[in-house]
Amino acid sequence: MPPLINGSRTFQLRFLHSHLFKNLSPLNNLKPFSTVTTTTTTLPPTSTSNSNITLPPVEPTPIPTNQGRQLLIPQNVYGMTQEELKGVMKQIGVAEWRGRDLFRWIFARGATNWEGLTTFSSVIRHQLPNYLSFDPLHIEAHHKSLDGTQKWVLNKPQSLFNLSCSQTPVGFEAVFIPEVSRGTACLSSQVGCSLSCLFCHTGTMSKKNLRNLSTAEIVGQLMGMKHELSDFPLSGDKKILSNIVMMGMGEPLYNFKNVSKAIQILTDPDGLAFSKRKVTISTSGVVPLIEKIGSELGVCLAVSLHAVNDELRDTLVPINKTYPLKELISSIKKYVEAINQKEKVTIEYVMLKGVNDSITDAKELIRLLHGIPCFVNLIPVKFFLFFSFSFSFSF
Ligand code: SF4
Repeated sequence: MPPLINGSRTFQLRFLHSHLFKNLSPLNNLKPFSTVTTTTTTLPPTSTSNSNITLPPVEPTPIPTNQGRQLLIPQNVYGMTQEELKGVMKQIGVAEWRGRDLFRWIFARGATNWEGLTTFSSVIRHQLPNYLSFDPLHIEAHHKSLDGTQKWVLNKPQSLFNLSCSQTPVGFEAVFIPEVSRGTACLSSQVGCSLSCLFCHTGTMSKKNLRNLSTAEIVGQLMGMKHELSDFPLSGDKKILSNIVMMGMGEPLYNFKNVSKAIQILTDPDGLAFSKRKVTISTSGVVPLIEKIGSELGVCLAVSLHAVNDELRDTLVPINKTYPLKELISSIKKYVEAINQKEKVTIEYVMLKGVNDSITDAKELIRLLHGIPCFVNLIPVKFFLFFSFSFSFSF
């Protein structure tokens, strides 16, 4: 199937593809925000664990005290799967199936405290905080564009934010993009990015603050947005947030474990119940894991291509030196097989004047993508400080 090259969708995609737009996105450049506020409001909780190493354990973690007794560190509910909540129920001597009930309260009804869980006895409600916590993300800033697009600059959970260190930790971004037929949440997977794509502002950030976001921080972005947008409780009516794209800060496949678990939580039919067809992971080309997006996660794939030969792609998207085009295209085909050709792959292609926008490039693009069910988004980008290209067209 020949690729569909669709320049008209670029307007919406320039908001979505934060691999490209991080700080050069229209949120900052196209239109002024109507409001720029710094607030202490909190988004629902995130995990207290260091996510890039291990997933949070089901059991509360015992820590020794100087009296020889042990205290428990409650686990953040937003990083917990339904199965893990069932495990907690079992631990406190409650029927395991009540974990499903709890999961529904949190992810379908939007509960944010224990008092509201009216189907649980007060005895259980008093026990739960020993094992679980609601620990909101800290909101550093909230921006709203005139077209309704909203961006939150977030940071560690509220309880950790003030304690974390003498230096303010670096934040990360979550964006809501409203459209006529859908509302998209663009989520981050890392703070910063270890890759250095030439056109990307995030790629220029200092690597010393780089960290993977925990599962709870990823899910917490979405939950926080839903609370901010009054998109709870879920009902049969249309959701405000209908789609998720992992196109925020960072390379999602470099945080595969936490991203995978987040997707498991976000798509659980008893909770937020996002269809896997409405969830997209965008990668710059981490070849060994691309097939797994289809075989293990079953969600949609977007690939930042941007060049049709290795020489140019080595420069624009340096991960190409490790995983060159031939391997990348082959891995996309494996993804397509794994997902049974059910979904079209999104190919991201930033338009750089005199660099990658010739007729020859277009023809080579079609040849490269032959046989892959896909559409191509031609993306205009805006200038930022270290950006040294011109753009193929203005907008
Ligand atoms: S992989 Fe990293 S550096 Fe490359 S575009 Fe995405 S966020 Fe930017």
